[in-house]
Amino acid sequence: MPKSMKDNRAVKMLRAAEEGGYGVVGVVSYNLETITAVVRAAEKKRSPAQILLFPWALHYSPLLIHLAVAACKTVTVPIVLHMDHAQSEEEIIAASDYDFDSIMVDMSHYEKEENLEKTERITKFLHEKGIATEAEPGRINGGEDGVKDTGDLEGLLTTAEEAMLFVDTGIDFLAPAFGNIHGNYWGIENIKLEYDRLEKIRAATKGRAQLVLHGTNTFPDATMQNCIKGGMTRCNVNDLVLHTYSKYVAENTGKVPLTELMGKGTDLIQELIEYQMDVMGSTGKGDVLY
Ligand SMILES: [Zn+2]
Repeated sequence: MPKSMKDNRAVKMLRAAEEGGYGVVGVVSYNLETITAVVRAAEKKRSPAQILLFPWALHYSPLLIHLAVAACKTVTVPIVLHMDHAQSEEEIIAASDYDFDSIMVDMSHYEKEENLEKTERITKFLHEKGIATEAEPGRINGGEDGVKDTGDLEGLLTTAEEAMLFVDTGIDFLAPAFGNIHGNYWGIENIKLEYDRLEKIRAATKGRAQLVLHGTNTFPDATMQNCIKGGMTRCNVNDLVLHTYSKYVAENTGKVPLTELMGKGTDLIQELIEYQMDVMGSTGKGDVLY
C-alpha cells in the first residue's frame, strides 16, 4: 500500500519533539556498526532516533539502505530513516523507491529562485509518495564526508523572509544557517551561533515546519541545549558520536580480530549516542507508537 503523508512517522516524531521541547538525535550512518549502535542506544534509553544516510549509500550499496530500513522496522521504539543532503533530482528519485520517511531536498548549491522552484516541484513528488521533505534556505558552510562538496560557494545565513518562502513550497522541515557550519569548527571558540536570527526564523515558520539542526561537530552540551530551546527538533550528529570510534578503529585495525573491532567500535558509538539522548532530553520519550 502506498504511504500517505498523514501517517508520516518523521513528521509525527518531530512534531512531538517540538511540543515536548526536546531534540531527536539524527545519526549520520556509514556502516553496520553505526546503525546497530543507534538501535541499541534507542532501545536502552527508550528514546526516538533517526538514522541518516547520505546519497553516497545509493552509490555504495543499496544493501546499506535495506539494513537501515530493517533497523527501523524491527526496533521497539520509534526510529525513522532520513536521507540527508540529496543534491540531485536523480538521487532523490532513486531514493524515493526505498522506504525513507523523509528526504532532504538540498538545492542550496543553486541560486535562491531556482532552489525554491526545484524544492517545490520535488516536494510535491515526494509528498505523493508519503515522504516528508527538508530544505536548507541560505547555505550552511563547509563540507562533510559523503556530501558532495559545493565548491567554493559562500555560506549564506538564512533570513526569516527566506525561511517563510521555503515553508511556502510545502516542505516539512527546515535547516537554517545561523552560524552553524558543516565539518570542523577548529575550536569551540569558533562556534558562533546567532540565536536572535534563529528566534526570528522560528517565529516565521512556527506551526508550519519543524526546524532541524546541521553542523554539530564538537558542540558543547549547553550549545546543543540552547539550539533545542531555540526550536531545533532533530539534531544531526556525525563526529560528535563517531570520534571515539574513529580513533579506536585507527589505532586498532589489524591489531585485534575484526569481530572485536566491530563489537567494541559499536559500543563506543552507542555510548556517545546515549549521552546525546540525555543531553537532548529525548530519553524516555520513545514509548509512543506511531
Ligand atoms: Zn547538513
